[in-house]
Amino acid sequence: MRPFHIFQSWGKALIGKVPMLSIEITRECPLQCPGCYAYGDSHLGSGGPNLRSVSDHRGDELVRRVLEMVDEHEPLQLSLVGGEPLMRHRELTKLLPQLSDRGIYTLIVTSGVIPIPHDWICLPRVTVAVSVDGNPEDHDVRRKPATYERILGNIAERKVNIHWTVVRNNVEQAGYMDRYLAFWNAKPEVNRIWVSIYTPQIGEESAERLTSENRAQLASYFASVGKKYPKLTMHPGIMAAFVKPPAGPSDCVFSRISLNYTADLRTRVEPCVFGGSPNCSECGCSISMGMHWLGNLTVAGPLRAKHLINGSLSVGRAFNRLRGRNENIRSAESRSDYDDLIQIEQ
Ligand code: SF4
Ligand code: SF4
Repeated sequence: MRPFHIFQSWGKALIGKVPMLSIEITRECPLQCPGCYAYGDSHLGSGGPNLRSVSDHRGDELVRRVLEMVDEHEPLQLSLVGGEPLMRHRELTKLLPQLSDRGIYTLIVTSGVIPIPHDWICLPRVTVAVSVDGNPEDHDVRRKPATYERILGNIAERKVNIHWTVVRNNVEQAGYMDRYLAFWNAKPEVNRIWVSIYTPQIGEESAERLTSENRAQLASYFASVGKKYPKLTMHPGIMAAFVKPPAGPSDCVFSRISLNYTADLRTRVEPCVFGGSPNCSECGCSISMGMHWLGNLTVAGPLRAKHLINGSLSVGRAFNRLRGRNENIRSAESRSDYDDLIQIEQ
């Protein structure tokens, strides 16, 4: 993520488009990870359906519907999540080249439980991120059957990014972070290592949550590693955002410039990919933190990048109204209401 992405997003928002789109492409997943937000009862709104109960699509119908959605929203970037997206690997093999031809950057987030098709490696603008939650003694318990051994077999001779969601015990054990980073940094299949922090729901009490001391500890750890692990993608600006995340969805650039759909391709996941009532003050999503940092970059005088985005969202909405289109992006006013409620839009 670079500053020019913010300006690209600005341009998209200005014409009423959605810079970032994410789709839970299937409701199926063979894993049962503790702390999985996708299958949480309030993921799609309190009292509403959840990811297990919505209808989903497959085959050529899924390919067609996703392309229709993409052509409607014209995002810069599309994230395909789940469930386990590779449960639909045949459909993705048809879809990915077409998305690439449209100039869209596509990110597939997988547990690595299913082999990544070799054909995907040479596709431009396609990135596969494999979630690896800690060292084997933790990961293999949390994410069985997507164990280290299985992941290593399924990514052999491919190119992937590794995505780590850090939980409290990862930070509190001496040497844990180094062990993880050294292992994955040495793997030839790995392009980059991305780090997020576990994001709880409001009111959640769990062993995964980091304390504010843990966050400060993490920040100082990343400041200390410097260039020791060249594949690690971390920046002081992102680390600062981890320590002081957005106050709420209305302050979150990522939430404001993205649209998220669940597997029925109609129901929105709001206010961001986490759904439900995420605790923004403890947000640890690396993409959100990157956008938060970039959004606060100064453009000129007191003008920050996020002010340009906010202004262009208003212009984009007016543009859409003039053209009689549905609003792709919610208003800042309605976003501010999200701080303490759940929402679902059928
Ligand atoms: S792999 Fe993802 S969707 Fe599946 S249970 Fe784990 S966290 Fe949930
Ligand atoms: S929890 Fe969601 S809305 Fe809140 S700061 Fe994080 S990404 Fe943004």
